[in-house]
Amino acid sequence: MALQGVIDRLKKTTLEEIGVSFSLADILRDMRIEGSKVYLKLFSPSDKYHEFLKNKAEETLKSIGAEEVEIEFTNEPPKSSAPQTPPPPQQQQNPFENKRRIPKVKKVIAVASGKGGVGKSTVAVNIAAALKKKGYDVGYLDADMYGPSGPTMLGAKDKQVLAREDGKLIPPVAHGIKMMSIGLLLPSEDTPVIWRGPVLFKALSQFLFDIEWSDEELDFLIIDLPPGTGDVQITLGQTAEIDGAVIVTTPQDVALIDVKKGIQMFNEVMIPVIGIVENMSYFVCPDSQKKYEIFGKSKTEEIAKEYGIDLLGKIPIEPKIAEFSDLGIPPVLAKEESESSKAFLDIAEKIIRKLSV
Ligand code: ADP
Repeated sequence: MALQGVIDRLKKTTLEEIGVSFSLADILRDMRIEGSKVYLKLFSPSDKYHEFLKNKAEETLKSIGAEEVEIEFTNEPPKSSAPQTPPPPQQQQNPFENKRRIPKVKKVIAVASGKGGVGKSTVAVNIAAALKKKGYDVGYLDADMYGPSGPTMLGAKDKQVLAREDGKLIPPVAHGIKMMSIGLLLPSEDTPVIWRGPVLFKALSQFLFDIEWSDEELDFLIIDLPPGTGDVQITLGQTAEIDGAVIVTTPQDVALIDVKKGIQMFNEVMIPVIGIVENMSYFVCPDSQKKYEIFGKSKTEEIAKEYGIDLLGKIPIEPKIAEFSDLGIPPVLAKEESESSKAFLDIAEKIIRKLSV
């Protein structure tokens, strides 16, 4: 059996059944062919899919004449996190040379946070909803590959993603917002996403460049990043042209330290930070209308000033935010007026002005 023939066959064997968009060739780490015996080493961080992958590989190889198949799994991340065909040296010298625009989108905004639980997804979804409410054509991309909450917050858990013949994904629409999330492609809500290295890189790249957002052009695409400053953020920064980043924080000191890291990271990948949103800033007691700063006096203004970045707005703690989000309705689109929806609409207005749309 010829090596190239086997590789070509592995490339054609997709793993759609487990909800991923890559092939056996993408997880191939080592291969030996001795006569009609084939040995494969496959990358799979979880043993959950070992049996499926083993059967799939055996079936594929036997269909092209292998008599004996031996399969081994590894969960070791690859030595380099570069894709399997390494880019030419010139590209490695300047990682930003390859930055591409996301097709059919006018303005791309990344929403980030230094740590989890500060309300980043809530802010991302509600900025998208506020822009929609103002009449723009909006998309929301949940790139939080490890903890996608977009489908819940947009009430889109049961929506189907369609793939066109040319491989482009058609985003479903929720509350008038075109949306895509890794959560929609996983077999069940409980499936943990534990991709690393090239596999993650490939999935993210498909998310960025292979979605058919619009027949014409979306006005805004909001990308909900995972928390922190990891692989996804760096890959995004090196491959896609992002028009601006919004950093979400809470007023606590610990969260603010991470804001500084976030600003530095965006500077390094040359993405302009358009502003900071402070979430869970205060609580207004419904009985007395008294304002309480539950997390203490905010220092967000100081940090914003220190870095010359605007504080785009402060969102209060409102139990309704969590309630509506769990119901799958962005609070901004709920009928009731609230402090938070006013703040989100105001933030959206500032973003529009800053990006001069
Ligand atoms: P992150 O994306 O930073 O992990 P989420 O947006 O998922 O955070 O928010 C975490 C939880 O806090 C969710 O249950 C959300 O509904 C709730 N939440 C976020 N912001 C507020 C707020 N301003 N008031 C009340 N609950 C909020």
